[in-house]
Amino acid sequence: MLNKPRLLTPGPTQLPERVRLAMAVDMIHHRKAPFKAILSEVQTHLKTLFGTNEAVLPLACSGSGAMTAAVTNLFAPGQKVLIIDGGKFAQRWIDIAKMRGLSITVLTVEWGNGVDPNEVKALLNSEPDFAGVLMQLSETSTGALHPVRQIAAITRKTNTLLVVDGISGVSISPCPMDEWGIDCLVTGSQKGLMLPPGLALIALSKRAWEKNATVPISDFYFNLASEKKNNLTNQTSFTTPVSMIVGLNESLKMFAEFGLKNVYQKQWALTQMTRTGVKALGFELFAKDNYAWGVTAIKMPVGMSATKLVAYMAENFNIVMATGQDEYKDTVIRLGHMGWVDWSDVLAGLHALAYSFVALGGYIGCKTYCEQALDAYHKALAEDYNIVL
Ligand SMILES: *Cc1c(COP(=O)(O)O)cnc(C)c1O
Repeated sequence: MLNKPRLLTPGPTQLPERVRLAMAVDMIHHRKAPFKAILSEVQTHLKTLFGTNEAVLPLACSGSGAMTAAVTNLFAPGQKVLIIDGGKFAQRWIDIAKMRGLSITVLTVEWGNGVDPNEVKALLNSEPDFAGVLMQLSETSTGALHPVRQIAAITRKTNTLLVVDGISGVSISPCPMDEWGIDCLVTGSQKGLMLPPGLALIALSKRAWEKNATVPISDFYFNLASEKKNNLTNQTSFTTPVSMIVGLNESLKMFAEFGLKNVYQKQWALTQMTRTGVKALGFELFAKDNYAWGVTAIKMPVGMSATKLVAYMAENFNIVMATGQDEYKDTVIRLGHMGWVDWSDVLAGLHALAYSFVALGGYIGCKTYCEQALDAYHKALAEDYNIVL
């Protein structure tokens, strides 16, 4: 079938031609001046993206590697952390914290919901010895957005560090680290950053660096203090994935040219577009009020297999979406609209979804879902949306 491939998954995501071409040039050496100049540019852009004055450190690993580095570099075995668990990726925090020997309290949030900040506040008040709160910005498994800003407003008044997995949130919806008071923010290359998988980024607040100095590091590879020291001379501790850094410089330049505020507005508009189209088609949204700006999770009606529908779309439209995860594997579809995705990709995705659903025996009465979705897109773009940078 001569359809363009469209990757509408919540990571990996599609790559702009500019980034692909930038990554295709001849190799340069990671210890020499030309590379240092690139890493220096990258550093400036990354500080803007993370909203921090602190170093944003690249690590050669996937996002989970940076999550691991956060835990092992900020908490000593036996220390107590609160983990906000509203999905599959929160469970990764639990697994990592367990391996580090931390004492774990889990605040369970129903899948599809954001956490209630009052519950976090009550827990931190009743037990003041939490060394950290670990959470997601966007819980990619459910499409929910957690109120990081409100949680940070609570933790910043205490000695508890706030560690945020922003892997599917950074560069997709605002998360200004210093302004909000986040102590550790991590992300990965393959979601909003318009890069292939394989690079992670991590930044620590001032007080997180102070805490880091008190924690025994048992890991040879993930030593953030050593990375920070090397970063001062635009170096990394080990051989860095040079092409990824070169690609990152290009994608960050694209963000800078377009303007971060406009990047977020586009993400917001695509989210409104997707949600409106999906609702018009008669589907139920998995995340109701607090929803992420880069992925929409869609509930399948009883009798429709998400796995079969996703396979049908891939085969007949060359459009790749993700199924749900764990117990929702066959009942939820996740349509990713983060990074190098535009309105026409979403429109194609909605059409593939509608057509394939009917082909597999479903019923759709609405004929105007495309118009409704596009109207929502234009309305959201025109809104003077109060995006905090
Ligand atoms: C994708 C994702 C991860 C996992 O990242 P890897 O790069 O696969 O290690 C973790 N957390 C969130 C929120 C994600 O979206």
